[in-house]
Amino acid sequence: MAGIYIHIPFCRKRCHYCDFFKSTDLTQKARLLAGLKNELESRAPELNSEEINTIYLGGGTPSVLLMDELKDLLSTIRQNYKVSIDAEITMEANPDDLSQAILSAIHGIGFNRLSMGIQSFAESDLKLMNRRHGVMQAIQSVKWAKKAGFSNISIDLIYGLPNQTLEEWERNVGIAVELDIQHISAYNLTYHEGTVFYDQLKKGVLKELPDELSLQQFEVLIRILKEAGFEHYEISNFCKPGLYSQHNSSYWKSKKYLGIGPSAHSFDINSRRWNVSSIAKYLQGLENNEPYFETEILSEQDSYNDYIITGLRTIWGISEEFIKTEFSAQYFIHFQKVSKKYVQSGHVIYSSGKLTLSQDGLFISDKIMADFMVVESC
Ligand code: SF4
Repeated sequence: MAGIYIHIPFCRKRCHYCDFFKSTDLTQKARLLAGLKNELESRAPELNSEEINTIYLGGGTPSVLLMDELKDLLSTIRQNYKVSIDAEITMEANPDDLSQAILSAIHGIGFNRLSMGIQSFAESDLKLMNRRHGVMQAIQSVKWAKKAGFSNISIDLIYGLPNQTLEEWERNVGIAVELDIQHISAYNLTYHEGTVFYDQLKKGVLKELPDELSLQQFEVLIRILKEAGFEHYEISNFCKPGLYSQHNSSYWKSKKYLGIGPSAHSFDINSRRWNVSSIAKYLQGLENNEPYFETEILSEQDSYNDYIITGLRTIWGISEEFIKTEFSAQYFIHFQKVSKKYVQSGHVIYSSGKLTLSQDGLFISDKIMADFMVVESC
């Protein structure tokens, strides 16, 4: 079982909070697509004994691609990899690129899951974030997607925005629930260096929301979505029963994945690899058979820490038995010591050999993960 992620590094406009690798210069699109095909073909041997269960087109903005370009990418994957018949095939899309006809075509060529970057249902938030779409466009796009045949739709929302009140956030979550979709990813705003929001924060143009208010927004999110029948299966992810993002779940369950395109990361259990975050260097590398990526062989400590960070984020948690059998004794001793502390404080729940975060633990998840991790040889 393995997954393929393809990074489409183009956006029509830069959102003010976003630090993903992207370019607003689309002139290199055709050359980049040829590069992605080249990388897909040349790396097929890495997964030749694996069945591909998930394909994810992310970015950037995959919906800037034309239908023939999307079709071509999917056929390149099908020609070079063993894609399972019921594979989850997701495409990220921005509401302003969509219409009924486009969504029907996207569904028709084989995408069976749609992840829409909506972020907020308040016009003022969308303007502040420099998003291109409006609220009505977002709502209409979800309706069109359903009509086009998508029965697995996810939307992204952001909370903790400057000046966002609890009531405004509650209204956002309420609208998302009314849309009757299957999956919601909700992230607390982070001010990443290099973004417009970061500069505005430093200049005092924007003011960070107090931590207590962001936490209250997180609580409201969990309460409303649970009442509406969503499972809270990962710190920032909620789904209708069983409709987990299979692709993202494979990251959290440490399954193999291939990352294609500039800045994309790959993981094969023993090593991590990341492609260069530059379209020019990526293409130059591929076209001239020069390196365009770096690789890191994972040490035991890296693997232990990865297992902790990914496992603790989810309802599947960390297996005590796995830590005992897969890692040296000193990791198990450290793990037991930290587990005891957090089980006693009620931030972590121990049940049937698995450790998961409790509701209180979710609010201090960063600290708990940091404590479980090993930063020096133990
Ligand atoms: S949030 Fe999405 S659309 Fe906006 S700049 Fe980032 S990748 Fe592009």
